[in-house]
Amino acid sequence: SVLANQIAAGEVIERPASVVKELVENSIDANSTKIDIHVEEAGLKLIQVTDNGEGIHSDEVEQAFERHATSKLISNEDLFRIRTLGFRGEALPSIASVSMVTVESAQEGKAGRHIKLEGGKLVESKPASSRRGTLIKVEQLFFNTPARLKYVKTIKTELAHISDTINRLALAHPEISFRLFSDENTLLKTVGNGDIRQAIAGVYGVETAKTMKKIESTSFDFKVYGYVSLPESTRASKSYMTIIVNGRHIRNYALAQAIVDGYSSKLMVGRYPLAVVNIEMDPLLLDVNVHPTKQQVRISNEKELGELVKKAVNDLMSAEQR
Ligand code: ADP
Ligand code: MG
Repeated sequence: SVLANQIAAGEVIERPASVVKELVENSIDANSTKIDIHVEEAGLKLIQVTDNGEGIHSDEVEQAFERHATSKLISNEDLFRIRTLGFRGEALPSIASVSMVTVESAQEGKAGRHIKLEGGKLVESKPASSRRGTLIKVEQLFFNTPARLKYVKTIKTELAHISDTINRLALAHPEISFRLFSDENTLLKTVGNGDIRQAIAGVYGVETAKTMKKIESTSFDFKVYGYVSLPESTRASKSYMTIIVNGRHIRNYALAQAIVDGYSSKLMVGRYPLAVVNIEMDPLLLDVNVHPTKQQVRISNEKELGELVKKAVNDLMSAEQR
């Protein structure tokens, strides 16, 4: 029901940036290589995501807005080896229940479909062009949930959240070319050639990317790699550390602390590096089903992983001091 979806929306869709995140993660899951995001008034007026991914079959576009209509979970066992970013089938119905949504999608060589929903109710469905990929437009977000709208902060704050969301996704996916436009401004462009340093250049600028150094460390269960800035070249804050586990940006206090511990010495306490740290592990060691936004994860053997992350950063620091 629309009400159930609005309740779910309360959990998953906190602010415009949450919509952006869910839509772009769907584009990533659809194996897109190019994703364009347009926002107006920090997403409150418009959020539009265009991708060149696999698209949705024309018979299934309407269905994608039904609750728990995910195409991504095949069996119960899959819950324990999730590689895709989405899997709950909650995002689209939740978003649709609190906005006006237009979708146009087509699969390679097949007829496309165009649909429109208002507050979760289907108001239009017709054939569309067969250009491969998906376009989703979300307008008038929270138009029917004034309480939620009240919690939305200034345009500047909401835009900063959107920007941060795309930055992290772009850092986690150097193989995808991202572009973020806000009103008439281009906020981000990444080349999408698979090179992490190039993605960093798109997010933090070419000069910053040049100053960052490679880290790498491997154990039986984990592989840690990425880029970290050196103390003399940065004055970063905590928010410039991005931790990516199996392609998913996560928030994890212990791992963030491990980066800081590896970076810090007695001479500089309370300083943070700019860091993009990738961790690869068997998905069986990872539980992403902890929270609806999937940003918090549970990792088996987190302590060992923390030690490895600390070592990877510390190896770089000692090498640089020599
Ligand atoms: P989930 O991502 O958890 O499966 P969503 O509600 O986010 O659930 O999306 C529902 C379904 O719609 C997805 O499983 C997928 O099949 C389809 N879908 C959504 N967005 C896209 C997209 N950009 N490209 C291809 N398919 C999509
Ligand atoms: Mg999804």
